[in-house]
Amino acid sequence: MRASAFHLSTTREIPSGAETVSHQLMMRAGMIRQLASGLYTWLPLGLKVLRRVEQIVREEMDRSGALELLMPVVQPAELWQESGRWEQYGPELLRFADRHQRAFCLGPTHEEVITDLFRREIRSHRQLPVNFYQIQTKFRDEIRPRFGVMRAREFLMKDAYSFHLDTDCLDRTYQVMYETYTRIFTRLGLNFRAVRADSGSIGGSFSHEFHVLADAGEDAIAFSTGSDYAANVEMAAAVAPTGARPAPGLPMAPVAAPDGRAPQVKVHWMQGLGGQPVGLVLCEEHELNVIKAEKLSQLSAPLRPVTAEALAAMQDRSPHTGLTLIADHAAAILGDFTWFDAAAGKAWAHVNWGRDLPEPACADLRNVVPGDPSPEDAGTLDIARGIEVGHIFQLGTKYSAALDAQVLDEAGQSRTVTMGCYGIGVSRVVAAAIEQNHDERGIRWPLALAPFAVALAPLHYAKSAAVREATDALYAELQAAGISVLLDDRNLRPGVMFADLELIGIPHRVVISERSLGNHQVEYQARSEDTARLVGCGDIVALLRTEIIHQDHP
Ligand code: ATP
Ligand code: MG
Repeated sequence: MRASAFHLSTTREIPSGAETVSHQLMMRAGMIRQLASGLYTWLPLGLKVLRRVEQIVREEMDRSGALELLMPVVQPAELWQESGRWEQYGPELLRFADRHQRAFCLGPTHEEVITDLFRREIRSHRQLPVNFYQIQTKFRDEIRPRFGVMRAREFLMKDAYSFHLDTDCLDRTYQVMYETYTRIFTRLGLNFRAVRADSGSIGGSFSHEFHVLADAGEDAIAFSTGSDYAANVEMAAAVAPTGARPAPGLPMAPVAAPDGRAPQVKVHWMQGLGGQPVGLVLCEEHELNVIKAEKLSQLSAPLRPVTAEALAAMQDRSPHTGLTLIADHAAAILGDFTWFDAAAGKAWAHVNWGRDLPEPACADLRNVVPGDPSPEDAGTLDIARGIEVGHIFQLGTKYSAALDAQVLDEAGQSRTVTMGCYGIGVSRVVAAAIEQNHDERGIRWPLALAPFAVALAPLHYAKSAAVREATDALYAELQAAGISVLLDDRNLRPGVMFADLELIGIPHRVVISERSLGNHQVEYQARSEDTARLVGCGDIVALLRTEIIHQDHP
């Protein structure tokens, strides 16, 4: 592609209202333009990247045995009433009426439509299992569309739905999808983790989210250095420490303030089931995990702090006066610690369980922190932020039961099928990839996603016949080799041209100038490197081929 014939539209200014790096860079590079809140046009440059994601997703879904189909965006209300979601879904579902005053919605997801198709289409267990997928526009009237295409209202999703006679079969397809997603995000060149989204109590493989690790992510992910264990921080179990409690020392005494040297605990006063105060005791450095605390039988859910009156009534209490206490495992093994009650504004030193306080009830009350032991292997936990780009889920019979999706089994009996569903946010992947791959100069595309693999940057293309001939020859040769290449024939000043090519993130750049051609050389630089090197004119195609041919491009 010649740049002069391709709508490249870059800007230096950071667009107002674009909070995240990916949103800024997608605007600045001329990949997307906003039409209205959460609605974007994909310009030719952006669309090339979107199509690359789509292509890899499609190839791997096909390889897994899933079958592509395409369902309508507009869906009749009756189906959603049948599943019960017409009432449940809330304002994210955009509803409207047609000219006959019949109710419809724009599909935020397609469980109802696919289950309806299934019940009309498939009769026998011999046609199972089957996994249908589509790559289709979704509409969700998000309460806060933001970060560009990361949380848009209209976006592109790959959604797949599988149907089975029993849960063993569902488990097998779920595993195949897990592996397929792993291949997809690996091929896309992304650093990602498969995160267990349930608590792990229902067998462990009920639902996984796939997260691209990036600072801009909305979720905190804990993952092990020792295995592929990863969980949302709220879900990850904090392993109870082993070992003996230190022996008590000096008698307990009130102090003006904690001295910072002794181990210190803090107490969160929450309402118990009957409204009475329950103290949740944690090490000073740990954070209370509300989700874990709400599961405790002694506490009310949702968790509520004690009332101001109840607190006032406790003002004079020292730690030993018969309060209900639940200690986090890490706080429960401390000895000779400082007790700091922020609500009472008081501290006591040399406090010991069993001597100054009753032996506490123990529970996992805290968020995990980096360096904690992994709950499932010998490694330790690390914490990073993640962007959810995919989700695999065992639905069971939720939709098949509601919509009567049945098949005849071997004995000729009608059986309700069991379902799984598997989503990838195709357009969100583009933004997530930028969050993970950029520098101060712009985007640094992983090769698999790059709109072009190579940029040819001739100096004085219009004026110098030698440069023009060498560039055109190289352009033809690269195209013949099947390498996608952008020839920047816009006759810009070199600094402006280089800045543009770096902003849009093309992985390989070749500069052709009269000076280097004098030595039968061109200048090559990878986007990931800081310096250029001279390469013989006869060697550059071979070099680019080895850089590109074995990787996932074009
Ligand atoms: P989130 O928690 O981010 O709202 P979700 O749980 O609603 O996601 P799913 O219903 O599982 O998402 O949809 C499948 C995938 O679609 C998600 O993993 C995500 O990558 C993508 N996705 C969801 N909502 C949006 C959106 N508003 N804009 C872009 N992509 C989205
Ligand atoms: Mg959502």
